Amino acid sequence: MTLSIGIDVGGTNLRLGLFDGLNLVRETRYHADFSGICKSFSAADAWQTILHEIATAITEIQGNDRQAATIGIGFPGFIDPQTGIIAQSPNFPGLRDVNLAKDLSAYIGKAVVVENDANAAAYGEYCLLGKPATGLIYFGLGTGVGGGLISNGKPFIGFHGCAMEVGHLIVESNGRLCGCGNRGCLEQYASASGIAQSYSIKGISAHEIAELARSGDEMAQSAYRLAGESLATAIAHVVKVVDIPQVVIGGGVSQAWDLIKTAFDARLDKDLIPVLRGKIKIHISQTSDIAGMLGASLLVNAI
Ligand SMILES: [Zn+2]
Repeated sequence: MTLSIGIDVGGTNLRLGLFDGLNLVRETRYHADFSGICKSFSAADAWQTILHEIATAITEIQGNDRQAATIGIGFPGFIDPQTGIIAQSPNFPGLRDVNLAKDLSAYIGKAVVVENDANAAAYGEYCLLGKPATGLIYFGLGTGVGGGLISNGKPFIGFHGCAMEVGHLIVESNGRLCGCGNRGCLEQYASASGIAQSYSIKGISAHEIAELARSGDEMAQSAYRLAGESLATAIAHVVKVVDIPQVVIGGGVSQAWDLIKTAFDARLDKDLIPVLRGKIKIHISQTSDIAGMLGASLLVNAI
């Protein structure tokens, strides 16, 4: 039995999974306010604190077991594929040009592989689907929208580490203003925060809007329809570029697929070119909660 550790780093949560192949042996979850740490301390002090917390969590999850053979991390940010440097991350305000793989490896005395969190989740879903020969497209609908593409058995990273930034595909010209500075990005319609924006009453979460939609609230149903149509347009664009027929949709919003499916299917069919209609297999993730950690744990095989 070879054990591996997969780590999912978020702005407020740190999750670690100890895996035996595809099987989760043990999971630990911490409330880790990394965003707050970055705001409260100098960048150098914040970075040392973050490294220390991750290293401590790695020690804890291994417990009395023998050491895990590999450690992989999914991190929310652009990671330069040449240097491993993370230029910045929206969840870690103030941090600039840090190298998590290099610094953590030095801290714990063991090699660490780091990849963008959506790419890690895409790789996890790819492994869970039995590594389809066609490769796989992944869309993760969470607070924002992330994406990954697996081709030839590996995440496709892009020259700047920015490949598959699908949350910023523009699906509505002159639409809602996005954090990236553009207007009409997918993230503004198909993420949890986008769905909350689509609803007439503010301050209600996407999860609560889903419950309202299921109880017959038409505005709530409309918010999810808009999410489905926007997502379908974006996926149709990506499929037309890469011609990969396996698409996995994960993240918290995908749990409301019953509210999205009808509008999504109709728009996808409309926006695809005729030769691709009916040939795209859409999978709703059944394991999106662990795909990020699992993919991170297996990254060493993919890079
Ligand atoms: Zn954007």
